[in-house]
Amino acid sequence: MQVRKRLFLGALLFFTLLVSGLGLLLWYFTFREPSQFFRQLFFSLGLLLFLGVLLVLGGLVGIVFSIITGKSYPILRRPTQFVITHLLPLVIRFGKLFHIAKERVELSFIEVNNALVRAQMRGRVKPQELLILAPHCLQNADCTYRITTDVGNCRRCGRCRVADLLALKEEYGVQVAVVTGGTLARRIVRKTRPRAIVAIACERDLSSGIQDVHPLPALGIVNIRPEGPCFNTQVELERVRKGVEFFLGTV
Ligand code: SF4
Repeated sequence: MQVRKRLFLGALLFFTLLVSGLGLLLWYFTFREPSQFFRQLFFSLGLLLFLGVLLVLGGLVGIVFSIITGKSYPILRRPTQFVITHLLPLVIRFGKLFHIAKERVELSFIEVNNALVRAQMRGRVKPQELLILAPHCLQNADCTYRITTDVGNCRRCGRCRVADLLALKEEYGVQVAVVTGGTLARRIVRKTRPRAIVAIACERDLSSGIQDVHPLPALGIVNIRPEGPCFNTQVELERVRKGVEFFLGTV
């Protein structure tokens, strides 16, 4: 496992251990507290924390085992889903206490998700069931064609990567959509009903999108921003191609 994946998983494990310590402390007070009301309160709070810790540990074990063995564990599916869909904001806040940049945690989360998708994905997806979802900032800023309403409006002049994504669409028969944000992305996903997604975006949009569509498998590819955020962004086309070929089962 690479360092980036360890950041998200390690921070979450550390946080969980701290919460376990708090739970034990509460139970310790249960025995020392003379008031029955507070004894019951401390015990119940400790129990709640203990159950939360079990859930998170189950999710962590599910993720790590899946990544290592390449299998999914049905018994750990729910805890794994809970970790993927609910705990990123908490890990980001926890990371801030140790001056870990939000983007690093998000990037780590995306890598964990990608490793999970690669480990758990079973069977091939038909080309028409695969969606490449790209951000509007990939379009050249001087281009006037409205590709978010229909990516087919692109004239393929080659000034931006949209032309290359359309070439992939034709080569593999997959769907391609360019979206202006999360709301439109969700609408496109609802409309096209893909079985898998190759998503291109910044760390923030990718990590929130992955949480939104989970358990739909989505491979996240972080865009390149040579001119700053949200402006004339780029993407490594080879990574997109590999993501497509992974889902189509051609690699
Ligand atoms: S490749 Fe398409 S989207 Fe990009 S600048 Fe040319 S016409 Fe516009």
